[in-house]
Amino acid sequence: MVNRPAASRNREARIMGIIDVHGHFGKWPFPIGGDPVGNLLELMARFDIETAIVSSSKAIVYDMAEGNAELAEALRDTNGLLGYVTTNPNYLAASCREMDTYLREEKFAGVKIHPSYSRCAVGTPRMSDLISEIARRSPTVLKIHTFSAAAAGAIGAEAARHPDLPIILAHAGGAEWRETAKVARDHANVYLDFCCGHSDRGKVRHAIETAGREQILFGSDLDLLTPAFTLGMFEGAELSDAEKQAIYHDNAARLFGLT
Ligand SMILES: [Zn+2]
Repeated sequence: MVNRPAASRNREARIMGIIDVHGHFGKWPFPIGGDPVGNLLELMARFDIETAIVSSSKAIVYDMAEGNAELAEALRDTNGLLGYVTTNPNYLAASCREMDTYLREEKFAGVKIHPSYSRCAVGTPRMSDLISEIARRSPTVLKIHTFSAAAAGAIGAEAARHPDLPIILAHAGGAEWRETAKVARDHANVYLDFCCGHSDRGKVRHAIETAGREQILFGSDLDLLTPAFTLGMFEGAELSDAEKQAIYHDNAARLFGLT
């Protein structure tokens, strides 16, 4: 019999494999080597991740259309990976074209916005116009980089305007996770993923107690970060079996229509 850590055995016994809602395809301006797809698949195998939903790094930081096209090509021949179409509020018409091209493809599961790299804050007219266009293309999911309580609050206002659009607050507000949890509490269509460099003790438990386990997702930022980092935050929260099942798998399966 293979001798494996208890936590790993428990996950295998109860959960069909983790769904990771926050990953990236391609290089960043940081030292990440190797083949992008190979890196992702290796990390997924190591951490029992059955599905990872990823966006193109190039589409976020450099060329939206080229990055989305490269991601679409990579997804076609790869099992276990799904994609977000990256959009940019500075280019509304082009963003709509990207969504209309890729959201019809089976491998694309949602839409990504990165307000910081786009230099366009949530709450500005340009950002509101883009979010309205995303909501018009429902059912889909919006994942949006959120690194402050102010940004989370502004997204809460958008969530109220578009109650049928699920919105994932990627990074859950960073260091301002206490305020961000209240946004999820107040809006049933807001979800939290916690990957970031702030692994503060207690933030996952605080979010569960504030917003409930149904609105918490597992997102790791692979392969920019190792999933071990975010898994440690969740394991440190001493999740019950029901919480693990919901957070590691069932909430994301429901949200993205994965069976
Ligand atoms: Zn990320």
